[in-house]
Amino acid sequence: PESFLSVRDLKVQFSTEDGIVKAVDGLSFDVERGKTLGIVGESGSGKSVTNLTILGLHNPRSSTVDGEIVLDGKELVTATERELEQLRGNKMAMIFQDPLTALSPFYTVGRQLSEPYMKHRGASKKEARDRAIQMLEKVGIPQPKVRFDDYPHQFSGGMRQRAMIAMALMCDPDLLIADEPTTALDVTVQAQILDLLKDLQQEFGSAIIFITHDLGVISHMADDLLVMYAGRAVERGSVREVLHDPRHPYTWGLLSSMPRLDSDIDQQLTPIPGSPPSLLNPPSGCPFHPRCAFRDEVPGTLCTDVRPPLGEGRSTACHLTPEQKQTIFIDKIQPR
Ligand code: SF4
Ligand code: MG
Repeated sequence: PESFLSVRDLKVQFSTEDGIVKAVDGLSFDVERGKTLGIVGESGSGKSVTNLTILGLHNPRSSTVDGEIVLDGKELVTATERELEQLRGNKMAMIFQDPLTALSPFYTVGRQLSEPYMKHRGASKKEARDRAIQMLEKVGIPQPKVRFDDYPHQFSGGMRQRAMIAMALMCDPDLLIADEPTTALDVTVQAQILDLLKDLQQEFGSAIIFITHDLGVISHMADDLLVMYAGRAVERGSVREVLHDPRHPYTWGLLSSMPRLDSDIDQQLTPIPGSPPSLLNPPSGCPFHPRCAFRDEVPGTLCTDVRPPLGEGRSTACHLTPEQKQTIFIDKIQPR
């Protein structure tokens, strides 16, 4: 399979008054054309920082970035601000949780859709307007010719989210990064927007990185899944593999703390005890060891001393043996 975006050993560190924060610490993954990679994890796991770094929107003065980010053959870590600016909105675009991060209150929706298109594509005002109206129509905004001249505050929350998707798709980007894009919306609108994104992906063939803490949304949207913890990937596989046969204690914890959409049974939700570690002074060895209920199953001090690596393809970063992962999951986790 053709890897359209390839991230290798990415490290993002911030200098703060208290010291160095390792926000992303050796992350590798691939996204194929036309496929969706879901990234899940608690807040502070490094999901958003990773994606802002891909887009070149991290603050270069307070952060250092190491490793490789290759988008369609182009290295982004070493790209200039000018080159990144050229790629953003054109080859890659972002959909945020809050549309008002992307849409300015001071300009009409139509103007905000048209201007980047004129800039990136050298289109005339008329061409950009036609394209914007076409895109507003595609995302399901009624009377797009009229709404073109509205300001964002004249749109409902769901409509603003649609307008932001239209804006992200104006230049037909090959990579779309969606960071909790529907979290603020009610369930019905959320489902509509997710379906819309899927349809548009079919039509445009974009690769999507979908960031969320909601595993129900992920199972609907993603092909592959990366579970992040403390700036690292701890489990990777197809969505089916990870959600139906999870192999990492942190993923077990995530799944036990999520309501199951496919079940009517009264659910006992067990949150993971403890809280995510400080990235100023991350735990030695396995970053999950202070919270892990299974570390005594591993002999010696491996969990506290040795960082478990994540392999290529389907894999988990955990010192439990494959047999232990299977039996613990079947005996203790699955039949909740
Ligand atoms: Fe738990 Fe050890 Fe596996 Fe980390 S490596 S998840 S502490 S069993
Ligand atoms: Mg976030």
